[in-house]
Amino acid sequence: MNLSALSFFRSLRKDNDQFAVIGLGRFGRSVCATMHQLGYEVLATDIDEKRVSEALTEQIVAHALQLDSTEPAALKEAGIFEFDTVIVAIGNYVQESIITTLNVKEGGVPHVVAKASSEVHRKLLKRVGADHVVFPEYEAGCALARTLTKPSILERFDLDPDNSIVELIVPDEFHGKTITELQLRNRYGLNLLAVSQDGKFLINPDPTKRLERGSAMVVIGHNKDINRLPI
Ligand code: ATP
Repeated sequence: MNLSALSFFRSLRKDNDQFAVIGLGRFGRSVCATMHQLGYEVLATDIDEKRVSEALTEQIVAHALQLDSTEPAALKEAGIFEFDTVIVAIGNYVQESIITTLNVKEGGVPHVVAKASSEVHRKLLKRVGADHVVFPEYEAGCALARTLTKPSILERFDLDPDNSIVELIVPDEFHGKTITELQLRNRYGLNLLAVSQDGKFLINPDPTKRLERGSAMVVIGHNKDINRLPI
C-alpha cells in the first residue's frame, strides 16, 4: 500500500455495508462476487441488459439495474448518489469511464474508486475527481515481473517506495545458523519479524532459533538492503 492511498482508506466508513459497482466486466464482477460473499449488499449496474441479468442469475449481487452511467439522471434515479462508496469498473471504455466518474463525484458520492486501463486514463480519472484509482493490469504485471526475477521472494508488502516487508525462502547460506549468528541487523540492516515452523509463523523468534533450508522468513527493511540478501 503506498502512503498516498492512506488518507483514502482512512476516510472510508468502517460501518459501511453497501457498495455500488458500475460496469459488469471481469473486474466489476469479481468485485461484486467477493463483496457479496463477504456479506455486503451490492448494487450493480451495466448498460448491457444481458450482463445485468447474468449477475442476478449467478447471484453475485443483491440488486442489479440496467442503466447508462453517462446519464446523471439515470444514476440519480437508481439511487447511486446515496452510496458512500461507488466503484467505477469500466476499464475499456475510457470516455464512458471518465464521464461516469465525473457524474458520480458531481452527484456527491464521497468515495469513488475507478479502474484505469492506461496511464493517461489513470491521470484523467484523478483529474475528474476519482478518490482512488486502481490499474490492475499494470499492478499484476509489476507483481509478475518481481516474482519471476526474484522467485525466492514469496510476498512483498511495499511500505513506501524505499521500504518493504518481504516473506522469502530462507537462503541456503542461512541454513543451520541461529538468528544471533546471522546478525541480520548488523550485516544487512534488516529486522527479522518471523520464521516459519510446521506451517505456521513464529513471530519475534528467539535469537537461538536455527533457520532451516526450505522454510520461510519475514524481514522488514530498506529495499537496497533486502536486495543484498543472498537470494
Ligand atoms: P475486462 O472485462 O476486459 O477485464 P473491465 O472489467 O474493465 O475489463 P470493460 O470491458 O471495461 O470491463 O467493461 C465494463 C462494463 O462496463 C461492460 O459490461 C460494459 O457493458 C459496461 N459499460 C460500458 N459503458 C457503460 C455505460 N455508459 N454505462 C454503464 N455501463 C457501461
